[in-house]
Amino acid sequence: MSRFWSPVVHSLIPYVAGEQPAMSDIAKLNTNENPYGPSPLALEAISKAVSDTLRLYPDPTARGLRAAIAASYGLDKDEVFIGNGSDEVLAHTFQALLNHEEPLLFPDITYSFYPTYCRLYGIEFREVALDARMRVRVADYRQSCGAIILPNPNAPTGIGLPIADIETLVREHPEQVVVIDEAYVDFGGESAIPLVRKYRNLLVVQTFSKSRGLAGLRVGFAVGQRPLIEALERVKDSFNSYPIDRLTLAGAIAAWEDRDWFERHRALVIATRGRLGIALQALGFVVLPSSANFVFARHASKPGADLAAELRSRGVLIRRFSGARISDFLRISIGTDAECDRLLAALDDILR
Ligand code: PMP
Repeated sequence: MSRFWSPVVHSLIPYVAGEQPAMSDIAKLNTNENPYGPSPLALEAISKAVSDTLRLYPDPTARGLRAAIAASYGLDKDEVFIGNGSDEVLAHTFQALLNHEEPLLFPDITYSFYPTYCRLYGIEFREVALDARMRVRVADYRQSCGAIILPNPNAPTGIGLPIADIETLVREHPEQVVVIDEAYVDFGGESAIPLVRKYRNLLVVQTFSKSRGLAGLRVGFAVGQRPLIEALERVKDSFNSYPIDRLTLAGAIAAWEDRDWFERHRALVIATRGRLGIALQALGFVVLPSSANFVFARHASKPGADLAAELRSRGVLIRRFSGARISDFLRISIGTDAECDRLLAALDDILR
């Protein structure tokens, strides 16, 4: 604490990112990265972009990437916004679209960056409890509010909402912005992007960090009708008018266009998730149904903190969260088959 701090800094409760350890020989299953890395075509495009052109500023409008994303959905590039990771896209979204007189609604168990942004930008919020099965119930959002944000699939539960429920939510709040954070949608969720042309109040946010294997590059995007995108552009241009650098732009376009790599590797993650879920159940875990690149699981008798510590001492990193209903849960990212085998062998040893 310092007398030099702006008043808002005193009230911030910063988000704590998952650990990026310096140790080697670990199974790193704690931050939902893609175990297979990015498309080789993305790496090639980045290498090619390492040139004398780096003396020039990047395209402040990220035109090429917006056009590539828009084309996949039959949209116009002006309906796409690019940011430095979806965290930055979300930060701009909170400031540009979610700060109203009435409170912003989001689930009580969700991406823990949401309350952090609210404190940063002075946004009132109300948390809506998940139901007994840890699901989002759209009927619970039938209350007056300034806006709504939900991840689909939710994090850290991994549970996906059917697109019909998302559409109900968007239709029932025609005067509020509804933001769907689809960081994990490619692993079995249903994207709301096809609804964007139909609903002027819908904004969908996605990332290159998970299904495209490019967490280190930092690229995210939002899709929505022009007035919503324009609000994000105004905030961006008042903050940093270059959303991503030249290398990132080149890599992201190539990654987006390598459809074959994307399809093959997301299928691998989904298959490994199925196998891991069954094996965890056999070891006495309750495993929530996941549509993401992680599983959220609780052991029937052994506390989560003990399991996490014992896994760590065996070189296996997973993530835990605080909160009455979830502190015994482990969030386990889907790794390679070898990493999952290492986790299962460690658990077998611990629980024996
Ligand atoms: N939304 C959710 C629900 C997430 O879990 C994450 C990853 N921590 C993000 C957004 C941000 O991802 P990134 O900034 O890497 O795009």
